[in-house]
Amino acid sequence: MSTSAGVVIVGGGLAAARTAEQLRRSEYAGPVTIVSDEDHLPYDRPPLSKEVLRSETDDVTLKPAEFYSENDITMRLGAGATAVDTAAKTVRLTDGSDLAYDELVIATGLVPKRIPSFPDLTGIHVLRSLDESIKLREEAGSARRAVVIGAGFIGCEVAASLRKLDVDVVLVEPQPAPLASVLGQQIGELVARLHRAEGVDVRCGVGVSEVKGEGRVSSVVLSDGSEVEADLVIVGIGSRPATDWLEGSGIELDNGVVCDSVGRASAPNVWAIGDVASWRDTVGNQVRVEHWSNVADQARVLVPALLGQESAPTVSVPYFWSDQYDVKIQCLGEPEADDIVHIVQDDGRKFLAFYERDGIVAGVVGGGLPGKVMKARMKIANGAPIAEVLG
Ligand SMILES: Cc1cc2nc3c(=O)[nH]c(=O)nc-3n(C[C@H](O)[C@H](O)[C@H](O)COP(=O)(O)OP(=O)(O)OC[C@H]3O[C@@H](n4cnc5c(N)ncnc54)[C@H](O)[C@@H]3O)c2cc1C
Repeated sequence: MSTSAGVVIVGGGLAAARTAEQLRRSEYAGPVTIVSDEDHLPYDRPPLSKEVLRSETDDVTLKPAEFYSENDITMRLGAGATAVDTAAKTVRLTDGSDLAYDELVIATGLVPKRIPSFPDLTGIHVLRSLDESIKLREEAGSARRAVVIGAGFIGCEVAASLRKLDVDVVLVEPQPAPLASVLGQQIGELVARLHRAEGVDVRCGVGVSEVKGEGRVSSVVLSDGSEVEADLVIVGIGSRPATDWLEGSGIELDNGVVCDSVGRASAPNVWAIGDVASWRDTVGNQVRVEHWSNVADQARVLVPALLGQESAPTVSVPYFWSDQYDVKIQCLGEPEADDIVHIVQDDGRKFLAFYERDGIVAGVVGGGLPGKVMKARMKIANGAPIAEVLG
């Protein structure tokens, strides 16, 4: 590989940082440039809905500035990429300049979905960035009641953090229970119970039809006709891959950047990693994962492939977590809403459930029981029969 332009990584989050780190760890000596549209050094997002929102920390930077200078990684902060020319091997930046690459790594993450019919009122938030978390926290300081729209992981975590800040919370979810579309209704109901015990008004099976206010939001009208007073609204209805800047580039996009099983995109010398990337899995399905630990796993596969090095195949069992109040919800394997769910322990705030698919253990989900969740790792990795964990 020519090293004149080196590796350009577009995106300034966890995936960008892990890719750059892994390149240097693999003794790649050519230029490495990170192009980010944010003004911050790459930072960790999980605390944004937890510790940052609760004012417990603002220190979420992944690596200090010295790390990048010592490792000769060029940071181009506040510089969004607007287009790619895969024939010329250049990335167009917001200032109109073109940045050449030998290898391009796309790591642009996600853009939170908004509700287009909502008027432009103060007090309506989405949460993806550090700046958005700090802005939400500032407004939460004087808020009386928040409506959180969407009880996915981020909506549930925001609801929990706002309760700690003494804000009344109404959590609105069209599905029959929080997290039902990801973990199924049974676990969703345990999560609803947890939130209700903390004083959250959980309303499931209902959507939002309108937001009212003058200048600032004052109420939310739900699809059942009820109207809830609110001075804060958080829209947590999911995100979409940040690929607008790749439209027309010829790089195949389909719910993210379509990649093979090592992160190689459809155009030569282009790769993708993290939340924006849809990788082919072992059975040939395209899968896009929006979880923290997946990023490092992918970096360990992508970087050797990009450098043309042999890499030992890694067996990693997918993992993610979510902190809600004092309960750490942990998911290991690939639990899905349609699986048969066996709840084997339920002590109020603590619970453990195994997910069965085709007779084998597809995953485990625990609340407040980290040891028991992790103990199932090998059973999941080996595709053990469900009877082995239920016995
Ligand atoms: C509030 C919150 C809480 C979370 N909590 C958990 C958790 O508890 N557990 C868990 O497993 N996972 C959690 N996650 C998910 C985890 O943080 C993500 O999986 C991880 O951040 C993905 O990293 P990434 O680098 O792919 O994307 P991101 O971290 O989103 O980084 C993408 C970066 O690219 C930049 N960018 C976008 N477009 C351009 C462009 N055109 N040009 C230049 N730069 C661009 C963005 O501004 C951003 O800086 C959470 C995420 C959020 C938002």
